[in-house]
Amino acid sequence: MTALPPFERHRPETVEEATELLEEYGDDAVVYVGGSELFLLFKLGFAEYGHVIDLKGIEELRGIERGDGELRVGAAETHRSIERDPTVREEWPALAAMERGVGNLRVRTQGSIGGNLCFADPHSDPATFLLASDASVEARRGGAEARRIPVGELVSGPFENTLSRGEVLTAVRVPATGPGAAIAHHKFVLHERPAITVTCPLRLEGERLADVRLAVGSAGVVAARAAAAEELLDGTGTTELDGTLERAGALAAEAAEPVEDANGSVEYKRHLVGVLAGRAVRAAVPGAMQS
Ligand SMILES: Cc1cc2nc3c(=O)[nH]c(=O)nc-3n(C[C@H](O)[C@H](O)[C@H](O)COP(=O)(O)OP(=O)(O)OC[C@H]3O[C@@H](n4cnc5c(N)ncnc54)[C@H](O)[C@@H]3O)c2cc1C
Repeated sequence: MTALPPFERHRPETVEEATELLEEYGDDAVVYVGGSELFLLFKLGFAEYGHVIDLKGIEELRGIERGDGELRVGAAETHRSIERDPTVREEWPALAAMERGVGNLRVRTQGSIGGNLCFADPHSDPATFLLASDASVEARRGGAEARRIPVGELVSGPFENTLSRGEVLTAVRVPATGPGAAIAHHKFVLHERPAITVTCPLRLEGERLADVRLAVGSAGVVAARAAAAEELLDGTGTTELDGTLERAGALAAEAAEPVEDANGSVEYKRHLVGVLAGRAVRAAVPGAMQS
């Protein structure tokens, strides 16, 4: 590790000011919130910018509020503030539980949900969870209206997002789960960041699974929905799961498109995805019965 290279820090109070700074300094400027990823890149010598733009002072990127059938989380809210928020704990308990499992206390206190999504590290809990939850994000550039982007369209590849130059992520919108529904999020960690993440929201119609969604992440380069597994599971009786979960797990492993890395081989990851997918489905069922 080396010392941080010299840079000028800017503290805009509005998105308009942030966009102006990004346009003024062009390729020599970058935004940040917690800086847990950005300054690590600086220290490792992987990135260098003359101007860093701190978004923490922009009010629009703050707040956690229940809206019309959804939760709005400001992009600069930290994992810790989300995990501890009373509305999240009460009405989006699976989101609170997922955030509680991110990294360690230091990471959760410093890192923001927006920074996690924009950095697009393949090993992300929120990316998998929010994809399965049909969540979207809001982004804004200068004085323009905010635009909504489904979470699945924000990440275009490892460490790549689809925001345009001058555009800032302002919020994450998470739909409410209705009655008779629950979400289970499971992860497997070998090193610091998750090796596998699986999220399964589902609803129960009597004794049958309905509206099953299954997202798998961290194993491949981007999180993905396991559509074939979802189709297989939809309509399955809760007493018939034993026969179906192995096949659903295999389909989820295919959808994950695992890549070999420090967490293991493709085959090993396929196996882990299959196991975790089965566990997530099983865990969501009793939650849905109680809600
Ligand atoms: C030891 C360790 C363990 C971790 N474990 C986990 C884990 O278990 N699960 C998990 O999911 N993650 C994990 N992480 C990742 C962690 O969640 C992220 O580091 C954190 O959320 C990033 O937020 P930040 O605000 O610090 O990002 P920053 O470093 O501030 O920004 C990251 C990137 O996003 C861009 N950016 C930030 N905010 C915006 C915005 N509003 N609009 C546009 N661009 C923006 C920045 O330009 C930068 O490129 C871990 C990290 C560490 C260091």
